[in-house]
Amino acid sequence: MAASPRQSVLDALTDVDMPKRHPTRRAQRSIEADGISLPVYACDALVLGSGAAGFRAAIELKRHGIDVIVATQNLYGGTSACSGSDKQTLHTAATGRHGDDFIALAAALGAGGAMDEDTAYVEAVGSLRALSSLQYLGLPVPLDRLGAVLRYQTDHDEAGRATSCGPRTSRLMVKVLAEESARLGVPVLNRCVGAKILMTNNAPKRVVGLLAFHAADRTAQNPLGLAVIRCDDLVIAAGGPGELYRDSVYPKHCFGALGLALEAGVEAINLTESQFGIGTPRDGFPWNLSGTYAQCLPYIYSVDTDGIERNFLGDYYRTTQELASNIFRKGYQWPFHASRMLDFGSSLVDLAIFRETRMGRKVLMDFNRNPEPAPGDAPFSLDRLDADVRAYLENNGALLDLPIERLARMNPLSIELYRRYKKDITHDPLEFAVNNQHMNGGIAVDIWGRSSLEGCYAIGEAAGTHGVTRPGGAALNAGQVMGQRCAEHIRACKRTEPSDDALPTEMVRAAVQGITSGLHDDGLDWRDVAREVQARMSEDAGFVCSAKGVRKALEGARKLNGDIRSRGLRQDRANQAERCLQWRQMAFASEAVLTSLDAYLSRGGGSRGARAICDPDGLDVPITRTGPLEAFRFRAERKQDQCEKIAIRYENGAFTCSFPRIRRHDHSQAAYFERDWAEFLTGAIYASGGR
Ligand SMILES: Cc1cc2nc3c(=O)[nH]c(=O)nc-3n(C[C@H](O)[C@H](O)[C@H](O)COP(=O)(O)OP(=O)(O)OC[C@H]3O[C@@H](n4cnc5c(N)ncnc54)[C@H](O)[C@@H]3O)c2cc1C
Repeated sequence: MAASPRQSVLDALTDVDMPKRHPTRRAQRSIEADGISLPVYACDALVLGSGAAGFRAAIELKRHGIDVIVATQNLYGGTSACSGSDKQTLHTAATGRHGDDFIALAAALGAGGAMDEDTAYVEAVGSLRALSSLQYLGLPVPLDRLGAVLRYQTDHDEAGRATSCGPRTSRLMVKVLAEESARLGVPVLNRCVGAKILMTNNAPKRVVGLLAFHAADRTAQNPLGLAVIRCDDLVIAAGGPGELYRDSVYPKHCFGALGLALEAGVEAINLTESQFGIGTPRDGFPWNLSGTYAQCLPYIYSVDTDGIERNFLGDYYRTTQELASNIFRKGYQWPFHASRMLDFGSSLVDLAIFRETRMGRKVLMDFNRNPEPAPGDAPFSLDRLDADVRAYLENNGALLDLPIERLARMNPLSIELYRRYKKDITHDPLEFAVNNQHMNGGIAVDIWGRSSLEGCYAIGEAAGTHGVTRPGGAALNAGQVMGQRCAEHIRACKRTEPSDDALPTEMVRAAVQGITSGLHDDGLDWRDVAREVQARMSEDAGFVCSAKGVRKALEGARKLNGDIRSRGLRQDRANQAERCLQWRQMAFASEAVLTSLDAYLSRGGGSRGARAICDPDGLDVPITRTGPLEAFRFRAERKQDQCEKIAIRYENGAFTCSFPRIRRHDHSQAAYFERDWAEFLTGAIYASGGR
């Protein structure tokens, strides 16, 4: 067994310092609108968001000679900089042994259905370049002595294609990308929140800029700090709508730009699909409890209001071996999946936790105690585990007495991480729950990241590329691959004639009025809107829901949006205008999610990755040691839904849904060098995007 890493090594991987200095950009001129003089910034391409995806797009654009600005709500906010897990995962084609098969990797990425096959292949082949360029920039990807990347098996991954730099992989990615961005001189407008996409009136509409709140431009004359950023291309890299659910493991204030895009009539896709799994909640230190946190086999229990402790998993699993082995499997079957509630599978753990928390009990994970036995069965023993579980611990030298010893052996960084946030898991148990973690859907894009609006691209979590399931780490990979591809496309399609810098005053005035007219002294309080949206989404549209509950939630969401339109929102201080707008957009996005979900369920859509759809007429029922849980009888997944996506658009004052088939990719159509070279040389490859 290798010696333990030095403390300084652990520190560098858990306490990641970010580059402080980025160039900024001055406003070019100003424009008068609605009695305000707004500063106007200008660039060829505007990247909205400074996570791993946004910085990747920015540096690729800059390298292609495009004048790019990054505008962001919070320079090192968002999930990439602030989220992680025991060893946060990056999923790329494996380099070790015999190398990988891109077709097999693409099939794995899209295995849950509702994912375009061309996009899956793009993410598969692009992953090598994404990873090696991150290594080139200094990402400390772990290697063996022959130079192959160290890998392990993660969620929805039969081949073991995951790698990690520790709990903070994505923050380390942001760090190296931000360093490169600063080195290349990419200007950053920090504290800058997208308010409205500016676009031409005539069809096909095209992006011409963005109206934004920019804190640095707040003056007595412009109290909201409104600014215009003129651009030819807009890359939305604003992450997911993390504020949508109350029960959530997103860091605070992740709003994303889904509402912004939907308000502009941009098409979104698969808004029904999200990931839910176990993690510590966001009012403390939000973090995923996947990987070794579960694989070290901690004791999971609940405590009621009288302080009585319950080994509740003992009501679900038949033997201690089954109970312990399913705790272990939460390590690499982390996201909830309805079908895994059957046959005493690992998602029965999620359901059990859900039921405990609904009964008002706290659920905890104790690393100093082994799992308690199932009633009437033998005590926990390392000799009584499923063969794969025992082999994993054995191979990792972790057949040790206590969970904390096994965790320290397998992943000391995971202990270090919580210690930094004042949680010493070597002594104290951790409270946790099943939380919303990721949106697999988002803005609909083609294989270059182009949305339905000309000149508008979406990448990273903002883009809806994942379908129903995604292997752990595929989100970070997708952001890198598409960040690079959208930049290439923007470069290839760059107009040769200089763009018209003048923006029609009327367009800007209408956009400003669209913001200011929604703010009223007697409007709704944005905090109430926040509470209502989050409670509704967690109560009626979480990972356990029903068609009836979703319909009720949709009616509530429509009413709320009607009230917001008629009464507006109240800003107590000028600097709250952007919060009001973000909650207006979030309420709008929640209606879009519920509309998509309602449309899917109305056609008979079944349970799948994101959700179990409870239905008394459902064919499946979770069985526990003490019998079936009839209240959780659920609809089975329908095969035909895997071949379709759920598209949604806001047009003429209403949302409309459609169900396009997924784009197929014929892998038998091999590329031939001489035949296909010309398509590259002439730029013909950029003409077709699959949309
Ligand atoms: C706890 C947790 C663990 C995870 N673990 C993994 C994992 O192991 N592997 C994996 O692949 N994925 C994982 N994910 C998902 C992954 O972290 C995200 O999908 C990814 O980081 C998103 O990157 P991004 O660049 O698209 O967005 P983000 O990193 O969220 O960045 C968004 C940026 O946009 C800015 N912004 C937001 N809204 C606006 C706006 N309206 N105007 C201007 N700026 C705006 C934000 O300030 C931020 O800078 C995890 C997520 C969570 C929450």
